[in-house]
Amino acid sequence: MSRHNIRVERRKEQKERPDDGKLGFGKHFTDHMFRMDYADGKGWHDPRIVPYQPISLEPSAMVFHYGQAVFEGMKAYRSKGGAIHLFRPERNFARFNVSSERMCIPRLDEAFALEALTKLIGIDKDWTPSAENTALYIRPFVIATEAAIGVHPSLQYIFMIILSPVGPYYAEGLAPVTIFVEDEYVRAVRGGSGFAKASANYAISMKSQEKAIKKGVAQVLWLDGVERKYVEEVGTMNVFFKINGSVVTPRLSDSILPGVTRASVIELLKSWDVEVAERRISLEEVKKAAEDGTLEEAFGTGTASVIAPIRKFISGSDEMVVGDGKNYPMAGKLYDTITGIQYGRIEDNFGWVRKI
Ligand SMILES: *Cc1c(COP(=O)(O)O)cnc(C)c1O
Repeated sequence: MSRHNIRVERRKEQKERPDDGKLGFGKHFTDHMFRMDYADGKGWHDPRIVPYQPISLEPSAMVFHYGQAVFEGMKAYRSKGGAIHLFRPERNFARFNVSSERMCIPRLDEAFALEALTKLIGIDKDWTPSAENTALYIRPFVIATEAAIGVHPSLQYIFMIILSPVGPYYAEGLAPVTIFVEDEYVRAVRGGSGFAKASANYAISMKSQEKAIKKGVAQVLWLDGVERKYVEEVGTMNVFFKINGSVVTPRLSDSILPGVTRASVIELLKSWDVEVAERRISLEEVKKAAEDGTLEEAFGTGTASVIAPIRKFISGSDEMVVGDGKNYPMAGKLYDTITGIQYGRIEDNFGWVRKI
């Protein structure tokens, strides 16, 4: 399939666009969406860009019953000069296929998916906001649509890309958050689907998210599902610790999502000659470091926030304060550098940005 095969049906009248100052996250959607369908024996077919609109499915569509669904999340950034930038999007589509494979969903042609995205953004480009730290959030996803409730991998799917202009994650600059250590529920297990961006992983994490909110904190720290001893992720972000001058992040496994931001942070730190270890790190080690004053920084990484500095962990009746609870120079420098590259304020020496 190539670009010429993407049929375009334009919206007759453009929707009213929200004010750049009142975007929030994921509440507004652009004029158009991309869609293509899959049928067993036929493969992916009928790629098209059509007006953003509801879709119609049978109540028996398999996604409603067995949750066969996968998604991605990335952003398009408007630079000062007006150009629109994507940040390492080929990684998101590669990961999409890894996730799909785990859920028995047929693969996409990654280059074609990126072409479709580029074309969609081109058509809806005026929806890319330009106020500081705003962006166009990109949500590709696939759902199982066969009308059948016998348990088996669906024979039909819909792949779509929708776009949502979003406001700044931090309204008033980086603000460190408190995290609660989840010791009851787990997000992922060995042999499970933790490494995939599967909708099911989100469904099972909401109970803990709700607990965190009841405790008045932002996110949970996930421990491994086997020993409940090792740190895995924080909310829907990867997690980093700076202990005694060097940086540690849990090494990837089948229960950890391989974040694009995580990979970028590691590459940046190495380019700054900071030592980065990807290894198992126990909660006990973090506790000890907090006690003896060597836990200098901790932060989450992900597309939405880029860097989320952590002020404190709450574990049962223990509290672990990170550094002085106020300053986070490394997290701040990483945030400034990555967002600088994304918005074209800093030269991209890594070849991460793709201009549309
Ligand atoms: C999406 C996601 C991340 C962050 O990945 P990025 O590619 O950096 O956005 C981390 N953990 C989980 C569980 C995720 O779903």
